[in-house]
Amino acid sequence: MSCIFCKIVNKEIASNIVYEDEKVVAFHDINPQAPYHILVVPKKHISTLLEVTEEDKELIGHIYLVINKIAKDIGFDERGYRVVVNCKEEAGQTIFHLHFHVLAGRTMGWPPG
Ligand code: C5P
Repeated sequence: MSCIFCKIVNKEIASNIVYEDEKVVAFHDINPQAPYHILVVPKKHISTLLEVTEEDKELIGHIYLVINKIAKDIGFDERGYRVVVNCKEEAGQTIFHLHFHVLAGRTMGWPPG
């Protein structure tokens, strides 16, 4: 398996992990775009948001609860945060293993670039 996020999930590549359970791993992005930039990644290999199916409904809900837990644990829940999923090339997806960007610690602009 050549997927870089599968390698992070399997600990074949090091990452700065902030949270892990049986379904997901969350770690600091190596190229942060905000003071806090965490990626929440399902352990199951799903290449893009378009490949999410009915059987993943619980997993996707779980990911949002994990994001809330991380926000509260690290302490950026009060000021707020942004969650971004880039789906396919035109949206900016570069790693084809589903991941949720969690960005916080600065005022965000809109529309996003
Ligand atoms: O949404 P997109 O696919 O572009 O996001 C991939 C993200 O994975 C980037 O923000 C990149 O910095 C991050 N990354 C990482 N660790 C790696 C490889 C990529 O945090 N080893």
